[in-house]
Amino acid sequence: MASLCKSSDNLSVAEVAALLAPLPSLQVQEYFKELITSRGCSGIEVKHNGSIGKGVYANAEFQEDELILKDQILVGIQHSSNKVDCLVCGFCFRFIGSIEKQIGRKVYFKNMGLSGCCDGDSSESEEDECVKYNVNEEQCGASSSNHNSLPQEVVSSLMNGEISLPHTDKFPLPSPLSCPGGCQEAFYCSESCAKADWESSHSLLCTGERSESISREALGEFVKHANETNDIFLLAAKAIAFTILRYRKLKAEHVNKQAKQSMSKQSLLLEAWKPVSIGYKRRWWDCIALPDDVDPSDEGAFRMQIKDLACTSLELLKTAIFDKECEALFSLEIYGNIIGMFELNNLDLVVASPVEDYFLYIDDLPDAEKEEAEEITRPFLDALGDEYSDCCQGTAFFPLQSCLNHSCCPNAKAFKREEDRDGQAVIIALRRISKNEEVTISYIDEELPYKERQALLADYGFSCSCPKCLQDSSVLV
Ligand SMILES: [Zn+2]
Ligand SMILES: [Zn+2]
Ligand SMILES: [Zn+2]
Repeated sequence: MASLCKSSDNLSVAEVAALLAPLPSLQVQEYFKELITSRGCSGIEVKHNGSIGKGVYANAEFQEDELILKDQILVGIQHSSNKVDCLVCGFCFRFIGSIEKQIGRKVYFKNMGLSGCCDGDSSESEEDECVKYNVNEEQCGASSSNHNSLPQEVVSSLMNGEISLPHTDKFPLPSPLSCPGGCQEAFYCSESCAKADWESSHSLLCTGERSESISREALGEFVKHANETNDIFLLAAKAIAFTILRYRKLKAEHVNKQAKQSMSKQSLLLEAWKPVSIGYKRRWWDCIALPDDVDPSDEGAFRMQIKDLACTSLELLKTAIFDKECEALFSLEIYGNIIGMFELNNLDLVVASPVEDYFLYIDDLPDAEKEEAEEITRPFLDALGDEYSDCCQGTAFFPLQSCLNHSCCPNAKAFKREEDRDGQAVIIALRRISKNEEVTISYIDEELPYKERQALLADYGFSCSCPKCLQDSSVLV
């Protein structure tokens, strides 16, 4: 079966190949050295590790529970389906507004049948069904009739800040700032986050009147397609917009400096692309795991379908933000590799909800106070149901975290502490780690039996030979 996708990439193959070529290891080391210094995590080093590529190594000793690193997001998105559940800053993913606003919005969307469509296991399933906002009420069982619904006026007052709930002053959240581009879709915790997002990617991807895209209408089409199919396209678009904006900035700096040694367009683009280039990549349609409901004999057709989907998405994106000087970024090969990079790396973005903390706080109050508070808060908790504790969920690329290799007996883990209230990745030591030891985390549930672990890790593109796997496999033979 032939792909519907025209291979209209009449770009120089060499230009695309240069973007996909691995960086020389010296450049990689320099890049990470700078990154580690800017992140202030002095106890680690990124080194090349022979056959398996990069790895993170301890430069100093770490004790159990000690912080090893905090990694900022390079590009990230909140899942489309999660947007009705949590209002977060579009750049740092911190919760914003107020406890009342968070609860009000959630109940409001829930009454409309939009919230809580993902049952429990949202980490795997959201890509297929839940990004669609048009899930009908019978399907998702979230219609107002299934829950103790609150009167619409109460919900509106809560969202507008006309009602305040007891003890919410202990959980202050930053006031939301609207996007400076006027899209009414992105909100921020601070001027600095609004500015940083605008400069990093949003100026090209904003659908508001100050958007710097070629066509806001086309951009709308692209976003709609992504929301209806796979919101990973929104993240890929961010990576492309990020690179274009970096390219323009580097070019402007270069012109201003009137550099004696002129840098070619190609080397400027390679420099702009560097932060994205360091992520391990393969084409999305080659590396995506075959879903359980697809018969292995249909694998070829399935992969072709995935490729066509990416092709459609890319055409829409091109109409919206194409830049002739960065043409290579708009080749299907690059688009497929960017999406594949998000598929292959361990990229969950999770921020715990202050609404959960709030209700736990109320529950922990001394009896008399608790009774008084609960009289007011109970109807809201009932209206929220089990989803009161939903956290912010998304996908992001963390440059440092992505260098951490997997082990089924890891010495570190991703763990958000009480004070970690934004989207940054936090890695904590699980036991004492000595100097020069490699820092590892587990990409999967390491308690699973050997065969299941190997099957899951195959989706990441490797087979594990950690001490635990070596021992388990020797028992099996
Ligand atoms: Zn922020
Ligand atoms: Zn905007
Ligand atoms: Zn293993």
